[in-house]
Amino acid sequence: MKTRKRILVTGGAGFLGSHLCETLLDTGHEVICLDNYFTGSKANVVHLLPNPYFELVRHDIINPYFVEVDEIYNLACPASPIHYQFNPIKTVKTSVMGAINTLGLAKRVRATILQASTSEVYGDPEIHPQDESYWGRVNPVGPRSCYDEGKRCAETLFTDYRLQNDVNTKIVRIFNTYGPRMHPHDGRVVSNFIVQALKGEDITVYGDGGQTRSFCYVDDLVRAMIAMMDTEPEFMGPVNIGNPNEFTILELAETVLRLTGSTSKIIHEPLPRDDPKQRQPDITLAGQKLGWRPTIELEEGLIHTIDYFRKLLAE
Ligand code: NAD
Ligand code: UDP
Repeated sequence: MKTRKRILVTGGAGFLGSHLCETLLDTGHEVICLDNYFTGSKANVVHLLPNPYFELVRHDIINPYFVEVDEIYNLACPASPIHYQFNPIKTVKTSVMGAINTLGLAKRVRATILQASTSEVYGDPEIHPQDESYWGRVNPVGPRSCYDEGKRCAETLFTDYRLQNDVNTKIVRIFNTYGPRMHPHDGRVVSNFIVQALKGEDITVYGDGGQTRSFCYVDDLVRAMIAMMDTEPEFMGPVNIGNPNEFTILELAETVLRLTGSTSKIIHEPLPRDDPKQRQPDITLAGQKLGWRPTIELEEGLIHTIDYFRKLLAE
């Protein structure tokens, strides 16, 4: 196939990475999935192994890696607060040295490279919704800093490799995304609530539950990442990717209870330090540049995700 590209996905055995690998293979590309299995697992991609165009590599991205590829999606980095706070120095190394190593590779083989950045670059925002021109309000010395500042520095590197070395870089800022293959114990709100509801355990709402998030289903996100990779070389972003429908955490808890039919009760626990109060993406730019908007509403996405966790827990 003439249009078949060879594509490297770092963090490819994680939640988002595994869906991305799957979609890229489905569209006829060759995929090299690189992962150190810190938060991802072979189980997420084992179904792809029989495909002759799929390769799985155990590698830690803080060390250089060399391979001839046309495109690189850089997703390697733990994403949930309990995972990225487990070894914060390693989290910074993964974001910063991982960006340097993958950008160095892109420069050498002239590959287009996309960074999975995050809405966390906006910190606890003073403007609402957040558009890409907002510089953010991030605490540089708090428990979330290793992740937020690591990702901010990676954005800087993606900008400077473009300016200084003419690398075709792209940045997407991903807002809370959920779906099948989230780690059941990663502490993120959607997986926590679903697992708690299915096990009949208390639903742990932190604080009063009035804080908000906007939840995007994984299939919508993957579509946007691929559309971003395919934009004209002059365009780097950053571009917000997320579902602008905003819910309070309490609303999410009630929806999960209703959809699972669970009799779990909602309890309140202390709000973690520096927990952002509200978050909603302005996705005007994604509409203009990628022709993209999310199509899967929260309830529909939750039904697929609940189904996945029900099967996982039954195993
Ligand atoms: P995840 O933890 O499931 O996936 C991350 C993957 O990276 C895992 O497979 C992990 O083992 C791997 N990894 C971690 N450190 C590595 C290293 N040093 N070398 C090689 N591999 C390493 O998380 P996810 O939700 O799939 O997130 C993927 C990317 O998207 C991350 O970069 C994350 O910051 C970003 N992101 C995700 C969300 C979200 O809501 N899911 C939101 C914003 C940004
Ligand atoms: N949260 C909660 N109960 C949980 C897990 C998370 O109330 O069991 C809250 C958390 O305090 C935050 C929101 O849900 O306000 C989203 O948390 P998550 O860790 O999923 O993502 P992030 O804070 O990085 O957006």
